[in-house]
Amino acid sequence: MAKQLYDSIQDEIKALKEERKAIILAHNYQTGDIQDVADITGDSLRLSQEAAKTDAEVILFSGVHFMAETASILSPEKTVIVPDLEAGCSLADMVSPEAVRQWKEKNPGGVVICYVNTSAAVKAESDYCCTSSNAVQVVRHIPQEKKILFVPDYFLGSYAKAQTGHPNMEIWHGYCPTHMMIQTEDIKKKKAEHQGAECIMHPECGCLTKSMHLADKILSTEGMIRYVSESNAKKFIVGTETGILHRLIKDHPDKEFIPAADLAVCSYMKMNTMEKIVDSLENLRYEVKVPEAIAKKARLPIERMLQIV
Ligand code: SF4
Repeated sequence: MAKQLYDSIQDEIKALKEERKAIILAHNYQTGDIQDVADITGDSLRLSQEAAKTDAEVILFSGVHFMAETASILSPEKTVIVPDLEAGCSLADMVSPEAVRQWKEKNPGGVVICYVNTSAAVKAESDYCCTSSNAVQVVRHIPQEKKILFVPDYFLGSYAKAQTGHPNMEIWHGYCPTHMMIQTEDIKKKKAEHQGAECIMHPECGCLTKSMHLADKILSTEGMIRYVSESNAKKFIVGTETGILHRLIKDHPDKEFIPAADLAVCSYMKMNTMEKIVDSLENLRYEVKVPEAIAKKARLPIERMLQIV
């Protein structure tokens, strides 16, 4: 590929994207410059589903590793690349496929529900997948006499258990360190400082069980984006990774958004940069390809989830 001079890195990325017949996906937690250059911004599953519908030959996924795996599972014929192979997810890493297999051996007939924030290998061992917006629906679908293992997020699992009252639910003790940064005291303080602001919280938040009464709405990232468009409120306290503020502010310049915790920044998500995106498109690296034997098994829990939500 001949080196050319571009006015800006944005122009360079656009040119490379055309040349590669690529689509750029950016998760809601990416930095603003990456979100602005992306074709689609959103949460991980929707991004992979939207990309699968396109005729792009290459998917550049600016997010974390398990998200690119999901894109590979849903678009096995496309080349999926990531700007930084080290951008992983602490939450996804907290459960292994071996651990899930062991649980299934000890609990024959049990049902494994995996949050979408899991590796392809864990999905391949699971019965149902779920997202933060449909975890309650998926748990409600499982008959009460069936034993459930919910992996890996303890707070999302606890929220789904509390909402459904499912009596037979074992929840993995995994957590997202970024969402753990959001503490009840932060929310109380922000609410006192910004009277009248609506408080919207992500169900991964570590303080959720103690702070549920402080939240006006408990929503996934996409749910937050939809809700803000529909609400008449002018001020929002936002309890999730701070990257989402970029899109909220851009879409609603007339509204004010206050992060529940300024420190809620995912260092993995922020490993991706515009320069790495250029390198990734230029050299078609780093490819994430889920082997078809695993992809085939991992597609099942996703398809089962989509049948019930
Ligand atoms: Fe994983 Fe948490 Fe980062 Fe999301 S914010 S990628 S769950 S570590």
